[in-house]
Amino acid sequence: MAEIRFHNTMSGVTEPFVPLVPGEVRAYTCGPTVYDFAHVGNFRTFVFQDVLRRYLKSRGYRVIQVMNVTDVDDRIIQKAAAAGVSIRDYTDKYIQAYLDDRRALNLEPPEHIARATEHIDDMVELIQRLTEKGYTYTSEGSTYFRISKFPSYGKLSKIDVAGMQTGARVDMDRYDKDNARDFALWKAPKPGEHFWETPIGPGRPGWHIECSAMAMKYLGETLDIHSGGVDLTFPHHENEIAQSEGATGKQFARYWLHAEHLLVDHEKMSKSMGNFATLRELFSHGHKPSSVRFLLASVPYRSQLNFSPESLQGAASSVERLRNFILRLHSVKFPEGSSPAMSERVAKAREDFDRGLADDLNTAQALAAIFDLVRDVNIAMDRGEFRQGDAAPVLALMDSFDAIFAVLHDDDAEKLHALGLIEDSSGPSDAEIDALLAERQAARKRRDFTASDRIRDQLAERGIMLEDSPDGAIRWKRK
Ligand SMILES: [Zn+2]
Repeated sequence: MAEIRFHNTMSGVTEPFVPLVPGEVRAYTCGPTVYDFAHVGNFRTFVFQDVLRRYLKSRGYRVIQVMNVTDVDDRIIQKAAAAGVSIRDYTDKYIQAYLDDRRALNLEPPEHIARATEHIDDMVELIQRLTEKGYTYTSEGSTYFRISKFPSYGKLSKIDVAGMQTGARVDMDRYDKDNARDFALWKAPKPGEHFWETPIGPGRPGWHIECSAMAMKYLGETLDIHSGGVDLTFPHHENEIAQSEGATGKQFARYWLHAEHLLVDHEKMSKSMGNFATLRELFSHGHKPSSVRFLLASVPYRSQLNFSPESLQGAASSVERLRNFILRLHSVKFPEGSSPAMSERVAKAREDFDRGLADDLNTAQALAAIFDLVRDVNIAMDRGEFRQGDAAPVLALMDSFDAIFAVLHDDDAEKLHALGLIEDSSGPSDAEIDALLAERQAARKRRDFTASDRIRDQLAERGIMLEDSPDGAIRWKRK
């Protein structure tokens, strides 16, 4: 198998991936800030992180992934206050929605999902460690990180902090590079705001400290992979490094992986621009969970992805092609035997598939390997050259494919049902019916009436009635 290589934002180059402990990968994922429904741009990053963990697992690694949920920050406090509810009640709803959305996209659950408000003590302890080492100062009840004390500040995002006014502070959780300043670790309470009584005084955490505290709590002081959207590089990840390395004196994360933006009509998708679509909006417009997952996974994570109804349509037909292919492999009885040429062809596809993913998760290359194989196998089937013994290796490769891409199982209707978006999820999908009908036509053409009748019976059992018309066309309807 090919050597795994990842592009490391810290070094700026693509490097061989070697975890600290052989056979084990400790990964931290910056999760959602639950002040609203996550938009599909956020899910681009989450799908990338899922492909990453699935690929590492397929290569035999034990993956320990931690994801935080930010359930206290400037925006949440404002929104909860405006709604007149507690932070907890306000965020519970969006955490549940986020977890439901993850299930709809087949995102595997991380080993630990850590809620910020349940780790206040860990954050306070980390701030105390930083204070003991002289990295902090307080002003009007808030505690700040003094970035001039951390000379390598800027090493991830490559910003130059020389000449910056020392002691200038920023209280906001989110700010841009032009506003690189000493940032808040702990914020003094404001009238009417929720606060915690702690040994470092009353208040609430700044946004950045939670990731340092929770990552190190569950994964140790040095982790293998830290990933997130590219917009988190500065200030969030830069500040995580300063906080963690300031406290421990050790390297915080060995590989930094950042997913590019999702574009809509070539503009960055973000809530602030108002062009966001939640998954539920997409689903209620008729797009399937599998199409969304496929589209988000199909473009390599470091390339910008332009999201449009057309690209979703394209993804839907790609998924359909693959599902039909699997149905064909399962439902047709091929001539006995196997062909050495086909076995070589499958081995090559497997190698190309793995090589694509090993190369910094080049999902486009991996998919090309699969679709090339599908095309070649379909041609061999059409020509009657495909043998029954060839089916198992092809299906095994499709299983390996699906262990990572997770789109073959046709459960879109069930998922929409689970989200309350459709009422009935029973019965086969249109695509499945069409594929079975095509198989039945092929069977009739070769006068294999046993196969043709079996397919008709299968469909009948699932509530699909067929009508053969005199002109040879077949119509179907649901009972
Ligand atoms: Zn984070």
